[in-house]
Amino acid sequence: MKVIPIQAARVPAAPFAGGPLTDTRGRWLRDLRISVTDRCNFRCVYCMPREVFDANHPFLPHSQILSFEEIARLARVFVGLGVKKIRLTGGEPLVRKQVPRLVAMLAELPVEITLTTNGSLLARQAQALADAGLDRVTVSLDSLDDATFRAMNDADYPVAKVLEGIEAAAAASLAPVKINMVVKRATNDHHILPMAEHWRGSGHIVRFIEYMDVGSTNGWRMDDVVPSSEVVRRISERWPLEPIDPNYPGEVAERWRYRDGAGEIGVISSVTQAFCASCNRMRLSTEGSLFTCLFAQSGHDLKRLLRGGASDEELRAEIAAVWQRRDDRYSEIRTAETAKQRKIEMSYIGG
Ligand code: SAM
Ligand code: SF4
Ligand code: SF4
Repeated sequence: MKVIPIQAARVPAAPFAGGPLTDTRGRWLRDLRISVTDRCNFRCVYCMPREVFDANHPFLPHSQILSFEEIARLARVFVGLGVKKIRLTGGEPLVRKQVPRLVAMLAELPVEITLTTNGSLLARQAQALADAGLDRVTVSLDSLDDATFRAMNDADYPVAKVLEGIEAAAAASLAPVKINMVVKRATNDHHILPMAEHWRGSGHIVRFIEYMDVGSTNGWRMDDVVPSSEVVRRISERWPLEPIDPNYPGEVAERWRYRDGAGEIGVISSVTQAFCASCNRMRLSTEGSLFTCLFAQSGHDLKRLLRGGASDEELRAEIAAVWQRRDDRYSEIRTAETAKQRKIEMSYIGG
């Protein structure tokens, strides 16, 4: 049972009068994604290509990354501003030591806490995460075919270990697990149907994600994108699907259910059907910068304030001002040119 801590109650009234905090396009601040590390034990070809993220890559030194205490303090301020859901991500969040301790600190807040992981270290941590107060988990798995998966994660990591992680999460009451598959044409799109078939009737929910032009190192091309409409059509031809309502306004995945009652799937269509109009997410990077869009070119340094002795009120005013100035809608205005622009890497600001 989560309790509202005394300090949350101490956060003063919002600097905006009456109602939720909105940006210049009238979007509410609802979700916060916190990157707890910029490191990862995988080198997924679409996210951290090995030739860029090699032994010489300058990952953040420990002194520059936010401590759990700093993260928890900021999270409390965000919750005071209306955030309802916090997702821990990275890099690979579970390569950072003692993540369950952070989850326990965040679980004192009146928010839903979720985590996105590549699943490699989940089997041994799932129970501790659930005990600490994690509500749900999303596991990335791009193919059930071992050779394809090993090639895509470029760390020779086997499918079986990720499946063990998903089972451990379910056993620890973190079900239904969401399973994210990034679909890249001619790389794993022939594994869409096997993926759907494997999880049909399991209670878990596969979400097919369009390959995105995040960062500037993955060599993204529009030709590599498999539109969600094609994914839905291909699955529906085999097992008929029908659309269902979102769980809440601004939900990223579009939901479809099997007409035969075998559960649901989701599709995330950031490229072909932009959902910027309802985008309510703020991102906090590992080193304490705020990003108002996944495709941002720069962030807003909060750590300087945090470590410079700012009060909760000052932090709150700064975060509110950043959100109130927000005008992002990258996916609505994406072109071949913008895709080539220098952008922050997803492994740095968190998926
Ligand atoms: N390491 C964790 C993982 O892989 O689940 C969390 C961080 S990862 C950046 C978060 C999500 O972003 C994953 O589901 C991953 O597949 C997805 N992702 C990374 N690069 C992507 C890209 N270029 N296009 C679409 N999704 C991407
Ligand atoms: Fe690591 Fe996740 Fe990026 Fe893959 S998608 S390289 S697992 S951060
Ligand atoms: Fe939100 Fe930016 Fe993605 Fe649009 S492009 S949905 S504003 S993160």
